[in-house]
Amino acid sequence: MLSRKGRLFLIILLLLISGSFYRFSDRLALAPQEVPAPQKEGEMRVHFLDVGQGDSILIELPNAQRMLIDGGTRSAGDSVLGYLQTLGIDTLDYLIATHPHEDHIGGLIRVVEDIPLGKVYMPKVVHTSKTFENFVEAVVGKGHKFQRARAGVVMVDDKDLRVDMLAPVGENYDNLNNYSAVVKLEYKNIGIILMGDAETDSEQEIDSARVRAQVLKAGHHGSRTSTSPGFLESVSPTYAVISCGEDNDYGHPHPETLERLDSARVSVLRTDQLGTVVLTTDGREIVFTGID
Ligand SMILES: [Zn+2]
Repeated sequence: MLSRKGRLFLIILLLLISGSFYRFSDRLALAPQEVPAPQKEGEMRVHFLDVGQGDSILIELPNAQRMLIDGGTRSAGDSVLGYLQTLGIDTLDYLIATHPHEDHIGGLIRVVEDIPLGKVYMPKVVHTSKTFENFVEAVVGKGHKFQRARAGVVMVDDKDLRVDMLAPVGENYDNLNNYSAVVKLEYKNIGIILMGDAETDSEQEIDSARVRAQVLKAGHHGSRTSTSPGFLESVSPTYAVISCGEDNDYGHPHPETLERLDSARVSVLRTDQLGTVVLTTDGREIVFTGID
């Protein structure tokens, strides 16, 4: 088996051969580093953590605030916490549990126990799992109140920086995934949309005037039930990040999603292939780095 680094170089080689490298060489420098470098002034960084099958996204905003969206499964909790410590992050201004599934909130329990938090967001929906119960107990036990995650919540609204939620729009869904908090980051000219596990029903409800973004964190680990053609066209991203585990039981990302992204000429970055992927932007350019 190839190491992560080996696989990364193999992917770059394959992209070279396939002729799509020019898109990468234009904009994408994916030089693997052992540990993330410190954030520089004026930078926004978005870390798509490799938590296996799950999601965990750490955002270092240019206003020095810190946001964590999801924490992977319970077994990922220690590594998420370790990653925060490596960066010297000992408080979080915002914690967002996109929806109550274990692969999103499980690892947050350790984070909530160890790290002082500002605002904690979660959609208004409950789940009968032990993990959900433990997560709620941990948050409440630390004296935090849940803020409701839904379309229209504005977390940051500065001159060059806006962070808000575009979903959930509705209040009742059959599928828990569609309750996912969808977060939009806008810094100067750069837009990034983070979908949680939102599926087609939610994608269709989101205000299409707000979705255009250079970077799409594809919904539901690249499942065929997300990243619907109409939505993809509205977002019109240059890059898509897919957070999923190697050889996962769900077959994520599904070939249909990869085909849609491919025919839209979107460059795909997958945590199962690249490990943790770090996006750095000054509000104009985007650079990706891999953390081995
Ligand atoms: Zn999930």
